[in-house]
Formats: sequence, C-alpha cells, structure tokens
Amino acid sequence: MAGRFDLRGKVAIVTGGNGGIGLGMARGLADSGADVAVVGRNEAKSQAAVADLAARGVSAIAVAADVSNKDAVAAMIERVLESLGRIDILINNAGMSIRKPPHVLELEEWREVIDTNLTSAFLCSKAAYPALKANGGGKIINIGSMLSIFGASFAPAYAASKGGIVQYTRACACAWAPDNIQVNAILPGWIDTDLTRAARQQIDGLHDRVLARTPAARWGGIDDFAGIATFLSSPASDFVTGTAIPVDGGYSIMA
Ligand code: NDP
Repeated sequence: MAGRFDLRGKVAIVTGGNGGIGLGMARGLADSGADVAVVGRNEAKSQAAVADLAARGVSAIAVAADVSNKDAVAAMIERVLESLGRIDILINNAGMSIRKPPHVLELEEWREVIDTNLTSAFLCSKAAYPALKANGGGKIINIGSMLSIFGASFAPAYAASKGGIVQYTRACACAWAPDNIQVNAILPGWIDTDLTRAARQQIDGLHDRVLARTPAARWGGIDDFAGIATFLSSPASDFVTGTAIPVDGGYSIMA
C-alpha cells in the first residue's frame, strides 16, 4: 500500500510554499519523495523553505513570482521545467485577505484579493496543463477555506474568491478528467499561520472563539496538511476528483 503514496520521480509546484500551510504541504510531498518548487515573492522566506525541503533528501528550488501576473506565471512554469524537468503536481495555495465589510471595501482591494486567491489559480492551472497532459496525467490541488462554505461580514472578496475556487475546481475536474488530471480542493479551518496571527491581534476574543467552535478544541498546525496533500498528489487518489475536503478539526460539521 505504501507504493500508492510514493511520489519519488514526481515534481510539484506549491504556490505560497515558502511558509504557512503551503510549507506544511510541501514538507509532506518532500517526505514522500517529490522534488518541489516553492513559489513566492519573499526571497528570504523562500530560501529558508528550500533548505527545509532539501534536508528531506529531495531537490527543491525557489521561484520568485507574483502568481496574479500572467507573464510571471509563464516564466515560473518555464523555470520549473528547465530546473526540475517536468511537472506532475500543482498546488494553488497562495492567498491573502483584506478584512473590511462590503460597503467599505474599495474596488482595488476587491481586485487584489480576487487576483491573488482566484485568478492566480486560473493562470497557474492553465499554464501547467500542457506539461501535466504531456506526462499522461497529474494532480491539481486548490486551497479554499471555511469561507468557501460560510458567510462572514468582514471578508466579502475573500469569501467570493474561496467560493469561486470550489466551482473552478469542479469545472477543471470535469474538463481534464479525460487527460487523467485530478483536480481537488482542500478547505482549511482555523490554522496557526502569519495570516491568522494578524487576525488574532486585530479581533478581540478570536482565539477563544475558535477553540470553542472547533470540536478538536485546537488550532490547526501547518503539518496537519502534509497527509491530505500527499494523498491528493498520489496514485491513491486517482479516482477522486472535483471534491472539496475540509481539514478543520470538525469546524464545518459543528451545529
Ligand atoms: P500565509 O500568509 O502564511 O501564506 C500565504 C502565502 O502566499 C505566502 O507564502 C506568500 O508568499 C504567498 N503569496 C501571497 N500572495 C502572493 C502572490 N501574489 N504571489 C505569490 N505568492 C503569494 O497564509 P496561510 O498559510 O494561512 O494561507 C495559505 C492559504 O490557505 C491561503 O490561500 C489562505 O487563504 C488559505 N487559508 C488559510 C487559513 C488559515 O487559517 N491560516 C484558513 C483557510 C484558508 P510571499 O509573501 O513570499 O509572496
């Protein structure tokens, strides 16, 4: 059975793989043998992530790119093919949020969130598709959120982007099933990362509310994403496509 999770010989791209949930997923893939390209804008963070991944015995590279920019994404895909030789797995994880109610959010802020969280997945998936198809198949994993499911007064663009990513996942899963490309989404609950550390400082009582609302009674950690990323990247999930899987300590099933 272990062979079904073996990623040796595979090459993965993880956008936002230089920290947070992306690094947790990249570690899982590296531990199963995949070579990994981490994509982000902060070069110091990316170099630290590359050292972390290379220590697991795989090839790892950092590619500096803004994933909301079409030309930067094209250059990123080219660089991965040149350096690592192929692409089998794409994880669209890069994301950000601007916390404002809908009547206060500016158009530029709306566009920044949608471009970073949703348009980036479209650009990276479209650019990677020919390489995945040429290999006879591959895996794409998109990162949603509890706000793919629930509403929230403070996150209109974020919730729209994360709802959109689930429907984009389903569209690609249907379109690319004949190419043996499986496309799935992961919906994280409340996870301890830079993104939520800022929210905890801004919102009184958030920490305690998360603990009370989460059946597992803890925040998620980035290493909680290693297993699901490995499963959805491996032959073990070859008949799983178009799904959106919560990794949330039970948050989404709590009444
Ligand atoms: P982090 O802020 O730790 O990580 C976000 C990553 O995205 C960073 O590595 C950042 O790298 C990268 N990034 C952001 N914008 C761009 C861009 N334009 N181009 C390239 N890279 C970019 O947050 P998380 O790990 O928490 O978030 C990861 C994903 O998980 C996001 O999609 C987020 O929405 C989602 N999520 C997180 C939850 C949580 O509780 N933490 C809950 C639900 C969903 P750099 O700064 O180097 O560009």
